[in-house]
Amino acid sequence: MAKLLEGKIIAERIKEELKKSIQSLEIKPVLASIQVGTNAGTNSYVLSQQKTAQMLGVDYRLKEFAGDVSEAELIDFIHKLNSDKTVNGIIVQMPLPEHIDCRKIIQFIKPQKDAEGVHPENIGKVLYGQGKILPCTPAAVMELLNETGIDLYGKEVVVVGHSDIVGRPLSLLLLNRFSTVTVCHIATSKAGKLEEHVKRADVLIVAVGKAELIKGELVKEKAIVIDVGINRVGGKIVGDVEFEQAQKRASFITPVPGGVGPLTVAMLMRNLIETTKV
Ligand code: NAD
Repeated sequence: MAKLLEGKIIAERIKEELKKSIQSLEIKPVLASIQVGTNAGTNSYVLSQQKTAQMLGVDYRLKEFAGDVSEAELIDFIHKLNSDKTVNGIIVQMPLPEHIDCRKIIQFIKPQKDAEGVHPENIGKVLYGQGKILPCTPAAVMELLNETGIDLYGKEVVVVGHSDIVGRPLSLLLLNRFSTVTVCHIATSKAGKLEEHVKRADVLIVAVGKAELIKGELVKEKAIVIDVGINRVGGKIVGDVEFEQAQKRASFITPVPGGVGPLTVAMLMRNLIETTKV
């Protein structure tokens, strides 16, 4: 039976450390957050950012735009935050409405204020293994892997999902640790190859957004399973991995909720400390 990797508990420990680091800064860090429109996922993510900010002594300034805001208005606001000396970090809540090009918007955030670690300059530094500001969810996954004590050197790591915010940057962080990384995505499934990759994973990380896409019986004995997925099914939140079956085979597994999510916010605040020091 796998041990639970409880992100919630690990996040509490990290937040205590972050609180001390924040107290030792000369100023109270300001995190500017931009939300466009509303959706259940973003609302709950913003709420947990607000709570964490309050606990750590961060000034969290939320700016809400209506769902039909134009790209130009958003960019204009980001410019204002970039030049506002009182603002230390900026986060744009995703997803943005379809009429707004996320990749374009992100490029307007000053890299030194990019609290989410999503600007191309910061991602580029991750590629070279030099990043101090890391993309939050991939950083959270790495934190969970560290918690297991695994030496990633030479391990078969399979990442399912290749999004800009999770799968792709995560594969770089794993490569920096000398894992043998396979990144699967929709085309892997369409080609009927997903199962064979999943079956040989020493470490399986799934970030797709499809409830129980990965059947527990496919998980290799003693594998480490990190489930990033968040899916609302019949009033419950479940991950992308069939939890009960997977838990019987794995050595470690994250619960959903309470796994990756709470750590993601902690990583955001860790980045904010870096951007405040700049
Ligand atoms: P996305 O929609 O941007 O990307 C989905 C990825 O899954 C793509 O690479 C796509 O090719 C792949 N995919 C889709 N169907 C597939 C299939 N049948 N087989 C294999 N691959 C398939 O998603 P995202 O933004 O990376 O988010 C993924 C999930 O992670 C969502 O549930 C999201 O809510 C969750 N998430 C959680 C956190 C957290 O902090 N816990 C953070 C970010 C995202």
